[in-house]
Amino acid sequence: MAGALEELRRRLAEVSDLSRAAGVLAWDQRVTMPPLGTEARAEQLATLGRIAHERFTDDEVGRLLEAAAPLVESLPYDSDDASLVRVTRRDWEKERRVPAELQEEMTLEAARGHHAWVRARRDSDYASFRPYLEKNLELKRRYVECFEWSDSPYTPLLDDYEPGMLTTDVRDVFAVLRPALTDLVASAPQVDASFLHGEFAPDDQRVFAERLLATLGLEEGSWRLDPTAHPFCTSFSNRDVRLTTHYHPDNLDSVWSSLHEAGHGLYAHGIADSLLRTPLGGAPSLGLNESQSRTWENLVGRSRLFWEHWYPSLQQTFPSLRGVDLDAFVRAVNRAEPGLIRIEADETTYSLHIILRFELEQELLEEKVSLDELPDVWNARMKEFLGVDVPDDGHGVLQDVHWSGGGFGYFPTYALGNVISLQIWGVVRQALPDLDGQLAAGDLGPLSDWLRDNLYSLGRKLTPKETIERLTGSPDIDPAPYLEYLRAKVGAAVS
Ligand code: ZN
Repeated sequence: MAGALEELRRRLAEVSDLSRAAGVLAWDQRVTMPPLGTEARAEQLATLGRIAHERFTDDEVGRLLEAAAPLVESLPYDSDDASLVRVTRRDWEKERRVPAELQEEMTLEAARGHHAWVRARRDSDYASFRPYLEKNLELKRRYVECFEWSDSPYTPLLDDYEPGMLTTDVRDVFAVLRPALTDLVASAPQVDASFLHGEFAPDDQRVFAERLLATLGLEEGSWRLDPTAHPFCTSFSNRDVRLTTHYHPDNLDSVWSSLHEAGHGLYAHGIADSLLRTPLGGAPSLGLNESQSRTWENLVGRSRLFWEHWYPSLQQTFPSLRGVDLDAFVRAVNRAEPGLIRIEADETTYSLHIILRFELEQELLEEKVSLDELPDVWNARMKEFLGVDVPDDGHGVLQDVHWSGGGFGYFPTYALGNVISLQIWGVVRQALPDLDGQLAAGDLGPLSDWLRDNLYSLGRKLTPKETIERLTGSPDIDPAPYLEYLRAKVGAAVS
């Protein structure tokens, strides 16, 4: 059966091609498709998704995995072939547990929920959205029943995004973060950031973003940057990376949103060629993927060193900043300021928005909070965590897209990404003793290369915990470096 591995690879390559082709359609839908194409595009995506799912969950894949197992037994744990068989088996078993009818119903109700949410958010009308939320929640409870769990029914939902992680793992991390962040936010000083609002021509923003992104280590000819309503990143191979951003004419957010998406793009760009067209060609978890978008957006893109190099160009591009010195600019882009909206939150307050959602998701799933009381509970916790008053549900419980499509279990990955980014950053700083000088000189190559060689190139060969352990020496998610970083930041603003 020496051919089993080859045959397995051939089948998996087909599934990967189908998924990447669906990815092209999805990118097109969000970037260039005229709006009336929506209905036909939904059918096309559903068809490709169904074929990919059927091919992957086929009995024959199971037989090939059986036949390939002895062939990889003596190979090193992290070899491409041993990893391929191990990870594919896990994915295959998981995907087969969910009945096709339930999967289809979830897809359908997610689309309906999304549609209802767009209107409900616009009109700040929670009552009209409530039945859709109820339906999506009920389907998620049925989904959870397809799996075994030991600590919480939330764990199977979390596992879709953070393989192998338990709800209790996340609770432990958040139990440290929450009080510490609340204290930090309360002690954060007022910082003048008025100059970050004004007139910033979108064309100039685009030119600046493209110049910046060209220095991060993405090979020329392997990426593009397009404008879109809600920025995202996708890729169709490690040499076809699609970044998107949004140019607000009245602020400079596109700088950091472009860096954020480029962080995701660098991950996709760094996947080893040998893992392409296999289930290993991605990041091990959303948290690890997000750790890298946060690294480039925040640890690099909000550092004083980075702006020592780039600020003169920014001032040249946007003359209104010429009267603002570097220190004032850096203070403003690092300020902590409680607000109502998660996606507008700064580094310090961001994770509090996530912890609130993580708690509510568990309480909704376990019916400890009812859908009737949800908006009031939301508002009370916003007051408790961030000290802000929610004026209406559009700026409260209805603000995020995730629940409308049944995306429960997703939110924690954002905060975990923040935490993990600092754990990895500590290792990077030791490995690259000249990093400060390189950042100040605008030389991002060594950082980019190190992250590619030590993290991105591994793809999904190792689990998230194994990946973190390989880098840091411990599989644990440790909030201490993240808190230390934020304390230094808020402290620097005080002095
Ligand atoms: Zn992201």
